[in-house]
Amino acid sequence: MTLKALFRICLFALLILACKDDVKEESVEKAEVDFNFNVEQFADIKILRYQIPGWENLTLKEQKLVYYLTEAGLAGRDIMWDQNYRHNLKIRRALEKVYTEYAGDGKFTENWKAFETYVKRVWFSNGIHHHYSNDKLTPGFTQEYFKELLLATNTKLDDAAFNSIFNAEDAKKVNQAKDVDNVALSAVNFYGPDVTSDDVINFYKAKTSPDPERPLSYGLNSQLVKKDGVLKERVYKSGGLYGAAIDHIIEELAKARDVAENEAQGEAINLLITYYKTGDLQTWDDYNVAWTAATAGNIDYINSFIEVYNDPLGYRGSYETIVQINDFDMSKKMAVLSENAQWFEDNSPLMDEHKKDSVVGVTYKVVNVSGEAGDASPSTPIGVNLPNANWIRAEVGSKSVSLGNITYAYSNAGSSGRLKEFVHDEEELKLEEELGGLADKLHTALHEVVGHASGQLNKGVGETKKTLKNYASTLEEGRADLVGLYYLYDSKLQELGLVEDWKKVGMVAYDGYIRNGLMTQLIRLNLGDDVEEAHMRNRQWVSSWVYEKGKADKVIEKVTRDGKTYFNIKDYDKLHDLFGQLLRETQRIKSEGDYLAVETLVEDYGVKVDRKMHAEVLERNKQFPSPPYSGFVNPVLVPELNEAGEITAIRVIQPEGFSQQMLYYSKNYNHLPDVN
Ligand code: ZN
Repeated sequence: MTLKALFRICLFALLILACKDDVKEESVEKAEVDFNFNVEQFADIKILRYQIPGWENLTLKEQKLVYYLTEAGLAGRDIMWDQNYRHNLKIRRALEKVYTEYAGDGKFTENWKAFETYVKRVWFSNGIHHHYSNDKLTPGFTQEYFKELLLATNTKLDDAAFNSIFNAEDAKKVNQAKDVDNVALSAVNFYGPDVTSDDVINFYKAKTSPDPERPLSYGLNSQLVKKDGVLKERVYKSGGLYGAAIDHIIEELAKARDVAENEAQGEAINLLITYYKTGDLQTWDDYNVAWTAATAGNIDYINSFIEVYNDPLGYRGSYETIVQINDFDMSKKMAVLSENAQWFEDNSPLMDEHKKDSVVGVTYKVVNVSGEAGDASPSTPIGVNLPNANWIRAEVGSKSVSLGNITYAYSNAGSSGRLKEFVHDEEELKLEEELGGLADKLHTALHEVVGHASGQLNKGVGETKKTLKNYASTLEEGRADLVGLYYLYDSKLQELGLVEDWKKVGMVAYDGYIRNGLMTQLIRLNLGDDVEEAHMRNRQWVSSWVYEKGKADKVIEKVTRDGKTYFNIKDYDKLHDLFGQLLRETQRIKSEGDYLAVETLVEDYGVKVDRKMHAEVLERNKQFPSPPYSGFVNPVLVPELNEAGEITAIRVIQPEGFSQQMLYYSKNYNHLPDVN
């Protein structure tokens, strides 16, 4: 599971976390403040950069490990492009050829500017569909103009790909609408064009795992196509689909294995290599068990076909990698939460039969990212909890990480004006400025460590993606959020030494969540659109549900002042109680696999937008030109070689710019053909 940035504007995130007694950390914090986090802005996107704190403290061997893992990640970059849409690679290559070769006065026109913006948007989304809304990007130039550019640069692009930029087909990358064929109507390249939702459901119904208690992740690493009317998986593996890129991944992983920090880590990497070679799903589970258990060491990584959000039915994993360096001081603080996971489970408002007797192996670390690729880049999560297979989470546990340097960059590049515009009163503003960063951090931690790990399925109830289908992701994310919300307003956090004033932190967390869920996250949507993305949906259904249920008691008051809407929480204790009730219900839905209930919950509270308020929010937001989405360029790891060709040192430098980095990646990690 990944957690995307909660859309909050925190001025002083991490302030609390800078330990005053720790001189070294303080100097790191200072150095970072002088750093310019902003790279550039275009359309609805802001590009940031991040640093790798603590790089100098790694040994050369550790730096090599990071380097090879990062290279392995980038080697698969093209896979994500092809997974997103079958024409993406062709289109990207044509756009890049025009972008780099077109010369002359033509570059000073509005048309060219529009073209340039389009190219950057495509880079940012790893394809021609918006990374968040899933809508096909609309070019700000005409077909005729694009033809001119192609001609002037002698660039070829076949008709189907050309037309797909401009026509109305494949309008959505992932279609989650109700009562339609989600597979047939999604442009994502996980399924052949003629494959339907029923095809997919029936195909996997027929698959039974050798050990039903430990179900294999069928469909995770393949494309499902129809050939002569027969459904067939094209497996992602060496010699299979994406084999050319996968061979490069394997090569880099083998180098990483040779400099592994310990045996467990090396063994896990070995299994991952075997998985890439064979595509065997049992090996995938073996790898995940080994990877989950390999918790020692300073370096960790995510690499493979992981998250299933891009599949309307939640089978197929998008390629991603994140390479991570442990942040020891922060991790120590957060370890407190995982050490107390059982207390949280025992004291939660869940029905007794849905509570876990023993919450196993919840580990939580704060890490600093050193490189990302695929689905995790340029748009990145801020927290990740893996593996996704429920049985491994139950038997072996899971690894939960919060991406510290990414969160830090977000917080320090934000605009403060927007917060002022949407808070109800001075007190809310003051508290948010003082404690918003801490509240966010704790929510992320609780969401990942306690949230996703909490609760159990009833005996005989299948995996959530089978029972709750298209609502599985949003239900799970909402459930994890609710666990966090429930405990953010609890004296236990103070008792554990995580906060100085639990009530204040809880209030800030509730203010921020409600403000965002009922109002500010709407700045990401176009007027008239429904809420589609799983996390956005869950923030809305959680917030709207408690707002609605607390109406009679005036728990949250909707205030109109000078024609502007505000939400003011009047009764935090009751709101805490409502979060608890909804948590209990969402866990019941998950445990029982109650599709009808989740459908009603999400459709009633999470999808539709109050058009009038949406218009108002967009209007109020106009004064803050900061784009709603952010993403990152990656630092560049530059190895220095001696005469024998051995690495003697690895330097970290920042890339020249976004376009330069994208072009560099396309040139140097260009491992797949146009059509796969
Ligand atoms: Zn999550």
